[in-house]
Formats: sequence, structure tokens, C-alpha cells
Amino acid sequence: MNKKQAKERIEKLKKVIREARYAYHVLDKSIMPDSALDSLKHELFELEQKYPEFITPDSPTQRIAGKPLKEFKKVRHIVPQWSFNDAFNEQEIKEFDERIKRELNTNNVDYTAELKIDGMHIILTYKKGIFTTGATRGDGKVGEDVTQNLKTIESIPLRLRKDLDVVVEGEVYMKKSVFRKLNEQREKKGEPPFANPRNAAAGGIRQLDPKVAVERHLDCFIYDLSWPEKEIPKTQFEELNKLKALGFKVNKNFRYCRDIKEVIEYWKEWREKREKEDYWIDGVVVKLNRREYQNKLGYTGKAPRWAIAFKWPGKQATTILKDILVQIGRTGKVTPVAVLKPVNLAGTVVTRATLHNADEIERLDARIGDTVIVEKAGDVIPHIVKVIKELRPKNAKVFKMPDKCPICHHKIIRPEGEVAHYCSNKNCGARQRNRLYYFVSKKGFDIQGLGPKIVDQLMDAGLISQAPDIFFLKEGDLQPLERFAEKSASNLVEAIEKAKNITLGRLITALGIKYVGEETAELIKNHFGQKIKNISDLINLFQEVSQQEIEEIEGVGPKAAKEIKNWFSHKSNIELLKKLEKAGVVIKKEKKEAISEKLKGKIFVFTGELESMSRDKAKERVKELGGKATNSVSRKTDFVVAGKNPGSKFQRAKKLGVKIIGEKEFLEMISH
Ligand SMILES: [Zn+2]
Repeated sequence: MNKKQAKERIEKLKKVIREARYAYHVLDKSIMPDSALDSLKHELFELEQKYPEFITPDSPTQRIAGKPLKEFKKVRHIVPQWSFNDAFNEQEIKEFDERIKRELNTNNVDYTAELKIDGMHIILTYKKGIFTTGATRGDGKVGEDVTQNLKTIESIPLRLRKDLDVVVEGEVYMKKSVFRKLNEQREKKGEPPFANPRNAAAGGIRQLDPKVAVERHLDCFIYDLSWPEKEIPKTQFEELNKLKALGFKVNKNFRYCRDIKEVIEYWKEWREKREKEDYWIDGVVVKLNRREYQNKLGYTGKAPRWAIAFKWPGKQATTILKDILVQIGRTGKVTPVAVLKPVNLAGTVVTRATLHNADEIERLDARIGDTVIVEKAGDVIPHIVKVIKELRPKNAKVFKMPDKCPICHHKIIRPEGEVAHYCSNKNCGARQRNRLYYFVSKKGFDIQGLGPKIVDQLMDAGLISQAPDIFFLKEGDLQPLERFAEKSASNLVEAIEKAKNITLGRLITALGIKYVGEETAELIKNHFGQKIKNISDLINLFQEVSQQEIEEIEGVGPKAAKEIKNWFSHKSNIELLKKLEKAGVVIKKEKKEAISEKLKGKIFVFTGELESMSRDKAKERVKELGGKATNSVSRKTDFVVAGKNPGSKFQRAKKLGVKIIGEKEFLEMISH
């Protein structure tokens, strides 16, 4: 093959591969087996290696991930980026329709309804039909140049079917099936699973290393041809078809609606069907069909007047953002979590919502005290979609990411190129995870159904990172998680509730103090148990008692005593105990059990009056030491304790030859 032939072959190969891509992604049909396509791609690659002068930016081989970037370049958008106003019910969408009719002074308006895909908004620029720049939305005016990452997405054409200069907009998303598969793989590798497909997609696009985007198998729907004016068709419906014709993947479920009634039908229809699609849908985008009308209405501050996001109700509700906690995940990742005033969301009470990361809080401009809209969509934990700023109280507090980890007090850092913050102590997450495993295990709180896997899941979702968090969980917090059907969520909440009642021994064990296992905890309980009725008592006692005194408990020893004193000297541990108390953890009253086995198996009978204690007290002491106290003397009796003025039992003991002892001897027996 000479150079000229190679060039021709390269051109032809590119065209065939391009057509196969178009058929698959846009027309939804496969015109060539994958393996054949791979083989053609390979041939193209080899030829280009030989004749690098023929490599063009639109070649399918250029999808291969390039080198990681140092930082993203900024891109100023040609077309300003808007966001949509929302409608949540039929009434609101009818009002939208009425307003449009009034302003246009006509009753003759039609619409295009499209599914609103929950992903990441992107803006693509093509010059003479070649993909040149891909950008994120950013602040609406300036975004980040993520071209390299977007090139790796097969459904984004590198070359259009016409050599046009255009700007289009769309949504990068991750398929639910891909999301599940990737999460399974991540879990196997011990990596934290993605919270939801939207984050996984956005995270992939915003990584400096394009290999990450490749690994996430992202996809993209295009829905807007936004520039130049002369290329934009007369209606939204035609616009979508034109995008398809240019080679873009357009979600096929869009529909022309003659009036708002048909829009409402579409919206109702998809309310039922949406879960079945392999991507997330968070509503319907309703656009006035005629461009002429769109132009007439124009924009308000931030949103077009001619379009609206028509969301489904019930899965959203408003509530108060009471606080923002940071949870440390099992990799040390810091997740800010919204503590909400409990609110009913799609049938269950929700108290927590994820805020994902610091950027998200900033984007939402969420402040403590704000009234927020929480949403539960699909199978993820609830998140805050919007802050109602008009309702913001004067004393609303801006959240500041703490500089120190709430658990281990190491610095909190944000690695370069990452959206998330991490605890700089590499062991923090893992250690915390192990602590929680132990805390809920049989030896500790013994919470049925809360094994390591579920603990991991809850940690990754940002629902828990410290033991007390567990006791604040509500059914609605759990239900969206994978493996949690309605039933299992309510079972777990019930088990947690039950576990709040715990014996002192198991509570001490659960704290995971070094050298203080079940046995030591039991010894401590036997020694101090009388003085500890609740968690406050526990705190007070161990803060006051000396190491010496703990050390002297038989079987405890100096090592454990030192660790106990040390544990109770840390403020964070005391806070943890206080939180447990606040969560409703109470110490179970126990039947007296033998403290030691000093008098094991020995049977005592008391007769007459004792000077140092009541007879009942004496009996109790015997029991505590493992002995038995009965009321009548028999051959089985080991000791009869005779006080002042002994009665008939004394005589009977004599007769049977049972050993009789005085009070002094008895006191010696029961002393340490
Ligand atoms: Zn830490």
C-alpha cells in the first residue's frame, strides 16, 4: 500500500466506523458486529501509526484517553446557560400555560415534552463539523474545558454528518446498569461505591485524568442546538430531529404535544414508566414548541420564560435544614450530611439528606436554618435539590468544612483534582469502620441485621460514621439503599430500637477500649455496676475514679485500667457517650449475678440477728459471691450463720452436725 492508498483507506475506514456509531447510538440499531468493528478500528489505528500525518482530530482512534491534565482550562460560553423554573403539579403547569397564553396574547400554543435526564449538563462546540470543545456548565458564563474526557464517550460524535459550526447542549449520564456493575466491582476492590449515577457521571467528567472517564462508560443525550441562530429550526420538535440527523444521540422519548393537556398526559405516563428506563429521569422538560414564541418571551434573570421543568410530586418535600454534619466514610472520605427536621417523603420519614461535597453545598448555597426542598429519586438516599432563599432566616449559618477530622482530629484535606475532602489520617476511615463493626457485633450492641456489609453501605452513603449515628436512623433514610426493601428497612430500625436497651457490660465492651474485652467489662460492671444507672453515671464515675482503684479490681490489671482512664479523658469519647444517651440508649437493669465465685456452691442459712447488716443484705452478699442462701437447715447446708438470739434453726444445725459460724467468721468469709 502506498501513501495515497493508505490515505484513502484511512478515510474510508473512518467513514464506516462513524456510520456504525451513528447507527448504534442514534438509530438504535447495530449494523455491524462489535468484533468486526473492533477489527476495523484496529486496522485504522495501525495505519495511522504508520502514517501519523493522516491522523485527524475526528478519527475514532482519538477517543483513546490522553495524558492527565494539570488543570482544566476555562471556557467562556458563546451561549449563556440558563436553568429551568420548576412545576410540581398540574395546577402549576396550567398556570405556566396560562401565563404564556396571556403574554403571547394567543390561545394557540403547542409544546414539546422531553424527559429530563439526571446527569451532568455539557456544552459541545463543533467547527466545520468537527468536535473541538466540550465544556461544563460552570457558573453559566464560564465553564471548564473537559474536551478530552468527553471525546472518550462513544455516543458523542467526533464529526457531524454535515460540516457545520454549531454549539449543542446535552446531558452526560451513567446508565443504571453500568452504575450497578461498577459499584459491584468497586465493592470487590474495597473502593467506595458511587452514591448515585449522576455523581458518578459528573465525577468522571471532572477528573483531570481522562482514563477515569473511560472507566465509567458514560453516555450522552443531546437536546439543544443553541447556536448559531440560523441553524436552529423553527420548532423545538424539528430541532430534536435535526440534532439526530446531525449525528447526535437524542433521547427517543420526546413528544409533540398540541396543548398543555397532552403535556400533562405525557408527564403522568412517565411518572409510571420512568423507573423502567436504564437512566435516571428527574422530570419532564416542557418547551414552547415554536421558536418565534420562545424569542418573544425571552428570559427572566436565570430561566427561560418559555420552558419549565415539570417534576413529579411526592418525592419532594420542603423542610428545615437543622444542621450539617460531616461523616467520615470507610476510605476517609468526608461527606457533608444534612440533618433535617423529620419530613414525610413519598410515604416514609426522612431525617438525613446527603450534600455530597463542599462544592454541592456552595452550588446550592445551603445554610443551616434554611428551608430546603429534599428529593428522593430512584434508589438513592435523599438529597437537597434547592434552597428556598426567600425563606432564609437572618441567623442562617454558612457551613464551613472543618479543618480537623471530627473523629481522629487529623487535618481534613482536599486532594488536587478531587471534588471530595478526605481525612489526612490514612487509617481513619478503616479504623472507624472496624470500630463500628465491633460496636454493633454480638459482643457489643448486638444489632440484628447490621453486619459489616450494611455498615459499609451506610458509611458510604454518609448516613453514619460514628456509633451514635446508628441510633438516629429512620426507615426513610435506609429505604433508598440497595438491598433495603421496605421490610428490611423497618426490621433494621426495629432492631436498632431494641438494641438501645443494653447491659452495662456490653455497653462497656462496645466502646472498644484497648484491653477491655467482654470479660474485663464484666468485671468492671460487677465492681461499679451499683453506682452506674445511666450513661451520665458512667461518664462521671470513670472521670472521677483513680486508675489505682480500677487496677485493684481482681482480674483487671494496670494495662486495662490505664486505657480506661485514658479513654475517658478524651473529649470526643465523652461526646460520643453523651450522643448515645441523647439517642435514647439506656442501661438495662439486670438481675443480680454472682460477682465472684468465692462461695460457689456453698449453702448458707441465717438465724438470729446480725449486727453489721440485715439478714437480707447478708443473703444478697452470699448470692453475689456465688453461694446460696436458704431458709431451712438440712444436711445439704454448709454453714449456719448464727447471730444474736438464734432460733430453732440453730438447734437443728447442731443436731444434723452442720457447721455453725458466728457473724465475725461470716464477715471474714465475704470480705475480699
Ligand atoms: Zn480522621
